[in-house]
Amino acid sequence: MARVAIVTGGTRGIGEAVSVALRDAGYKVAANYAGNEERAREFSQRTGIASYKWDVANYESCLKGVAQVVAELGPVDIVVNNAGITRDATMKRMTRAGWDEVVDVNLGGCFNMCKAVWDSMLERGFGRIVNIGSINGQAGQYGQVNYAAAKSGIHGFTKALAQEGASKGITVNAIAPGYIDTDMVAAVPPQVLEKIVAKIPVGRLGKAAEIARGVLFLSADEAGFVTGSTMSINGGQHMY
Ligand code: NDP
Repeated sequence: MARVAIVTGGTRGIGEAVSVALRDAGYKVAANYAGNEERAREFSQRTGIASYKWDVANYESCLKGVAQVVAELGPVDIVVNNAGITRDATMKRMTRAGWDEVVDVNLGGCFNMCKAVWDSMLERGFGRIVNIGSINGQAGQYGQVNYAAAKSGIHGFTKALAQEGASKGITVNAIAPGYIDTDMVAAVPPQVLEKIVAKIPVGRLGKAAEIARGVLFLSADEAGFVTGSTMSINGGQHMY
């Protein structure tokens, strides 16, 4: 029977590419989104993938959302924690609300979603969790203490949870994308983006499909020996 995957933030950008790649590989996919109804409707009509609205920062909403997916598609085998936001500001200008929002969605969302599926994965002895971190969680970035902290937290979260899942058939890995051509990067001012691209050895922004390829690899049944790892997909921008 086809495995069931939830992709948070799965209706646009990297998440959209991940949802489509998983569908094409034969998985049953549920694409979550936060509130952009128009894009979600257009995505579902175009791809035939069902979209589900809930806020990953809200624990109760995650429990309800996952329950709905389970009722409609079956128990969840794969979770791709991709939903993310930025609220960039220097420390001088950053508000406490801007900190909380970014940490709650990017990092809190990973906890909420993993918690919502964990017991079922343990009972069934199988799970694949892929958390989308960021090059800026590895290297830091000016004006992003909130985002860099949240993404860096994802990498620690991944390694800790991987240890709990390892003997139970559940792998937990992260992908740290570099700069990928999506709406999120379109929000970066052109003169800043030009400087960023100049620092990417491959000489261009990444494509969402290039991240999806990594997710597909880590989600596979055959990837059971890969856990607690972070796959950097960044055009050579940050190597360590
Ligand atoms: P986009 O802004 O293009 O899309 C974000 C998606 O996340 C949307 O589907 C959005 O839903 C959803 N989302 C946002 N907040 C929530 C929430 N609270 N609950 C549920 N869904 C939510 O982002 P990208 O595709 O660029 O980024 C995807 C992930 O990759 C993020 O985690 C990002 O931090 C990370 N990343 C991106 C990089 C890049 O260069 N683009 C680089 C490194 C990491 P809706 O459409 O309803 O708003």
